[in-house]
Amino acid sequence: MATMRCVVVREHGGFDRLRLEERPVPEPQAKCVRVHVRAVGLNHLDTWVRRGVPGHTFPLPLVMSSDAAGVVDALGTGVTSVREGDAVLVLPGVSCGACEACQSGHDQLCRDYHILGESCDGTSAEFVCVPAANVAPMPKRLSFEQAASVCLAFQTAWNMLVRRAELRAGETVLVHAGMSGVGSAAVQIAKLLGAQVIATAGGPEKCAKVKALGAHHVIDSRAQDFVAAVKALTGKAGVNVVFEHTGASTFDGSLKVLQRGGRLVTCGATTGGLVQLSLHALFFKSLSILGSTMGSKGDLRHVLRLFDQGRFEAVLARTLPMAEVGEAHRLLEERAALGKLVLLP
Ligand SMILES: [Zn+2]
Repeated sequence: MATMRCVVVREHGGFDRLRLEERPVPEPQAKCVRVHVRAVGLNHLDTWVRRGVPGHTFPLPLVMSSDAAGVVDALGTGVTSVREGDAVLVLPGVSCGACEACQSGHDQLCRDYHILGESCDGTSAEFVCVPAANVAPMPKRLSFEQAASVCLAFQTAWNMLVRRAELRAGETVLVHAGMSGVGSAAVQIAKLLGAQVIATAGGPEKCAKVKALGAHHVIDSRAQDFVAAVKALTGKAGVNVVFEHTGASTFDGSLKVLQRGGRLVTCGATTGGLVQLSLHALFFKSLSILGSTMGSKGDLRHVLRLFDQGRFEAVLARTLPMAEVGEAHRLLEERAALGKLVLLP
């Protein structure tokens, strides 16, 4: 039987928990396709899955990672939407397709929703089988490495800014960590929507990159207090929307820089998930705090069309061989990379 290599976590912990394992090459079930993976995109989510999250149970062992690009090399029965040989992206959210949420275009709210590499086996493998609904044609402008780095981040950022915060042209948005995966997506989406974009980044090199992505103003979060900097940049007015994913270390300041009627939208808590909230500020300033996870497959297909048209760019920092997944996680955790990290199987 043919075998393949994949990255598996059997127990939570340090970088040494990322095991390279041999498994049989999977056969696609009905309505599923097999993708010969050429590149695997890493996300901050990978580090949570490896380390574990207090109070949350991951179904270990898990094949890691949520993003990938490759070539369809086998079809299950009943698949008509793609062919063998098609270059595709893997869409990271799997849902039932039959419930009210799915059929209303909110598949990320499906009660049977799974993120690849988080609640079911993921993409860090030479071959993956996914429902045919979970592959999309690869934008022609992108290489496999670039394509593997965009789905989860852009899907998340799009849902936050477009669907949840309803950011409009002419409004001002603050994007935290503008060189992170979701941050660099958010800067580009906000710019495309016609918003005034203020972003933060750690250090002059990251600041220059975020500026090049289209941010109007970049605050060096290592050198400046972002609250004071935003107030100075906006003539004390503050911003309409804050794009949050850092959590405890920034949340209080994020509320402070919001204008009356402002919206804070969050998808993560990389520096901690417990924060204090003044209800007085919340109601006096008529603020909205919006949670968001992932996004719909329909919106993601729309985002990929914008990639096809050259409206967005993939922010790729580095590719590493799959065998160096531990080193890739170290770079992720230390925020050492200037953009996305991609593994090559
Ligand atoms: Zn569903």
